[in-house]
Amino acid sequence: MKSNLMAKYFRLNPESHLVKGALRGAVHNLHSGDVYSIDPVSTRVLDACEQGMCLNDIFQSVESISEETIINYLTTLEQSGIGQFYSQSIYIEKLKPGLTKMQRRLMRIPPTLNYIYLELTNQCNLDCVFCQSQSNLVKGTTSCWRWGGMTEDTLLNRDNWIDILKAALQLGCKIVHFIGGEPLLEWETIVELINLTKTETCQIVLTTNGILLELEDTNKIDFLIEHDVFFYLQILSANSQIHDSGVRANGSFEKLLGVIGQLENRGGRYSLTLPVYRNNQYDIDKTVQFLKNLDPQGITIDILRSTKPRSEELAADTLLHKLFRTNPSFPPLTAATFFQRQQGHPFWNGSLAISVTGDVFPCPSARDLVIANIKQKNLHEIYRDEDFGKYWSLGKDLVAVCNQCEYRYACVDNYDTFAKNKLKTKSEYCTYNPLTGRWNNEGKPETAKI
Ligand code: SF4
Ligand code: SF4
Repeated sequence: MKSNLMAKYFRLNPESHLVKGALRGAVHNLHSGDVYSIDPVSTRVLDACEQGMCLNDIFQSVESISEETIINYLTTLEQSGIGQFYSQSIYIEKLKPGLTKMQRRLMRIPPTLNYIYLELTNQCNLDCVFCQSQSNLVKGTTSCWRWGGMTEDTLLNRDNWIDILKAALQLGCKIVHFIGGEPLLEWETIVELINLTKTETCQIVLTTNGILLELEDTNKIDFLIEHDVFFYLQILSANSQIHDSGVRANGSFEKLLGVIGQLENRGGRYSLTLPVYRNNQYDIDKTVQFLKNLDPQGITIDILRSTKPRSEELAADTLLHKLFRTNPSFPPLTAATFFQRQQGHPFWNGSLAISVTGDVFPCPSARDLVIANIKQKNLHEIYRDEDFGKYWSLGKDLVAVCNQCEYRYACVDNYDTFAKNKLKTKSEYCTYNPLTGRWNNEGKPETAKI
């Protein structure tokens, strides 16, 4: 076997990408979405294979393991469909994105605005106990929140929103997401804005607590479904009392279920968001099962986090450990997400959010990162000057420590990187040290999928 293989080469398949960390490596299979962690020596071997070295030379250069071990290892990879032996040196065209960042620069192709959040109001018809502008508690996913701190005279008006949306559509924006507070409080503005998108190929998304769509007002639901609006609805529990006391409005649970039923009956598409805080943390398994039975397009469990770790009395204290990444289990990877993360920030790249007062951020939760104010600089000017550049391009390659991690294109840890002074710092919620290849799980139970 050995003599037959002396002149052979081994290459990873086009969809298998080796990412090297400071010590270890990871092979990303962009077809299956799997990420394989590999030890330091195997990383050296695979790297040499990918550089086009023949196996004979690799045997000479890697002395710490035997030729047989190397061959067995590569044979296992071949049998797993990750790579192949070749009898001669071969060029493998890797699966790649359409254009690299450098090619786009050379061809003067500007970055693309894909996603815009329009925060139509800071008011809400509910009063969730955890949603207070002075609180340290925030949601980790894009959702509704009353941020506070504005006065009537600083708010954008309907004409401002129309101008903003027109500009976004001219810039080719593909997803328009209405958020609040409760955006349905601005119903007439929503109708005007949605009508503006009629001739465009863009997706409308609406985050709402749902109450203003209650049963008797089916016209609104009909209008939204007719325009293919995707709904994000918030629910706090499978238990009506826990839900109602959380949103501080009796009867809300029943109304919300009525709205979900209407959406189901009319073919509306929706996803459910479950913010987890102190009072609903104990019945979480039951709630998740209940949500699954409703059969939404998606379920997001959002353990509310404190901007000052563990200091917020409303935080879900028994579940905070789940915010920590303690092992390499990442959401399934696709070719698109892998390349997007090489180009820039996993969430912000291509996205802008406009607040009720016209502040422009890379995302609605990143309130510290004001790019401009739309009253001083319109969207075309912001786009022309690429004011968003430093946030959009902020991939893990620019984050200290993470830039030496083999998981940097699989990882989407982003729990505490909204503060300006932490943007290029590794998340405090990750326990991995790429320099030692170790996860520090001390005191932190394994992350469990809820
Ligand atoms: S529904 Fe959303 S915006 Fe309204 S109070 Fe609750 S968390 Fe805040
Ligand atoms: S947060 Fe950084 S160090 Fe931790 S897994 Fe992600 S990329 Fe690696």
